Amino acid sequence: MRLLLVEDDDHVAAALSAVLARHGFTVVHARNGEEALQALLPDAAEPFAVVLLDLGLPDQDGFEVCGRIRRICATPVIMVTARSDVRSRIHGLHLGADDYVVKPYDTGELLARIHAVSRRTPVAGAEPHPEESGPADPLRLGTVTVELPTRQVSVAGVAVPLTRKEFDLLALLAQRPGVVFRREQIISEVWRTSWEGTGRTLEVHIASLRAKLRMPALIETVRGVGYRLVVPGSGAAPATRPPALPNR
Ligand code: CA
Repeated sequence: MRLLLVEDDDHVAAALSAVLARHGFTVVHARNGEEALQALLPDAAEPFAVVLLDLGLPDQDGFEVCGRIRRICATPVIMVTARSDVRSRIHGLHLGADDYVVKPYDTGELLARIHAVSRRTPVAGAEPHPEESGPADPLRLGTVTVELPTRQVSVAGVAVPLTRKEFDLLALLAQRPGVVFRREQIISEVWRTSWEGTGRTLEVHIASLRAKLRMPALIETVRGVGYRLVVPGSGAAPATRPPALPNR
């Protein structure tokens, strides 16, 4: 998978490139906005699966670069930002960023987000990854089974009718069990809008899902951030308790 890393700090770029290469990415490094846009021109080499875009760039504002990228291609953009305030995140999502991570980030979380956005937007002409296609395989979340193609959900074998948005919300969280989805990210994807004015809608749908699935603990509230799916016994969560590693 080809990834465009837009980062002006060579040390950060080298460290991150090494990690990404170990996970099978071919990393192309751009040191500023202009290099990034050149690399993304339609006639330039192979398409990229993802752009990792640092917002603090020497030549132009990262937000501006994001807007310009959107005008030339549909490659998913993950903004990498130290600006953790909500307003700038919303601004980034409005400009067409697919996701963002806030520095300092956890490498595992970054990789999960890269995989999530690249799966949502397949590169034109690319075959779906065999492990990820499998439309016949329902998702099993404890006693809950989710069939994506037919949009059917059952609990312990009994069908549970969900509204369209309830299903979309569950399907989104179920893509990456254990990974926290931010509120504004969920609202942007499920309701296709920014979160201002959507207010309580998300909470209402979460409460309704918890009740209908009769598993209140399946969807965990991460205070001040968003929600994640916690599959009992999967070991996928919680990030607050890192997996035990053998002492060496
Ligand atoms: Ca920077």
